[in-house]
Amino acid sequence: MSAQQPLLETKVLLVEDEAAIVTMLRYNLEREGFKVFSTGDGDEAVGLVKAHRPDVIVLDWMLPGMSGVDICTTLRRQEETKAVPIIMLSARGEESDRIRGLDAGADDYMVKPFSPGELVARIRSVLRRLRPVLSEKQLAFSDLKMNLAAHHVTRGSKDVHLSPTEFGLLRHLMEHPGRVFSREQLLDAVWGHDIYVELRTVDVHIRRLRKGLDPEGNHPELIRTVRSAGYALEEVPVGEKQPESPADK
Ligand code: CA
Repeated sequence: MSAQQPLLETKVLLVEDEAAIVTMLRYNLEREGFKVFSTGDGDEAVGLVKAHRPDVIVLDWMLPGMSGVDICTTLRRQEETKAVPIIMLSARGEESDRIRGLDAGADDYMVKPFSPGELVARIRSVLRRLRPVLSEKQLAFSDLKMNLAAHHVTRGSKDVHLSPTEFGLLRHLMEHPGRVFSREQLLDAVWGHDIYVELRTVDVHIRRLRKGLDPEGNHPELIRTVRSAGYALEEVPVGEKQPESPADK
């Protein structure tokens, strides 16, 4: 196993008609914690993508039925499938073929034969690069709604505009409504463990998030500052002033 975080619940659709390759890839991907499903039929692929919502597609070029390039083009044209990462496989290694594959909308391209380890590495890389979220899930709290796939937030009937950091903060809070998170916990959850950020930075982003959720200042506050503890997503009674930081006296 690699030292990287296992990508649990990450679904991979294999579209490949060579049984031996499917068996080998399935074995290697499952061992790495991926959930794998597959088809060898090009005509089935688009329907499967819609039904299973894979996080990444490994797509062979030459298939019975629709070709990999046509599948790729079709997926890229449709709203519900246009953002799914695609890694194209092919025995064709000519540069013009690679370009055609990438032009059709593939995110990466691998020439057969290849090592399964390299494919796993490319999948991880494509996911890190392209997939900001794991699911199509919608989160809701009070009059807030968050569409994770579309990175879209509304409050009541209005769109809420947030930077990626504020979106990440709000997402974390909406996944655990009512729970109090210390600023350290929010840093870990949103910025990650391996970078150094000052605690005050969290306060700054919470302030921006509050502003984003209520630009005109006429809605109830949804983020409570819990003194010497942290922040929580909670409906705060109108008029109750929240300290700017949990550290404020
Ligand atoms: Ca094939």
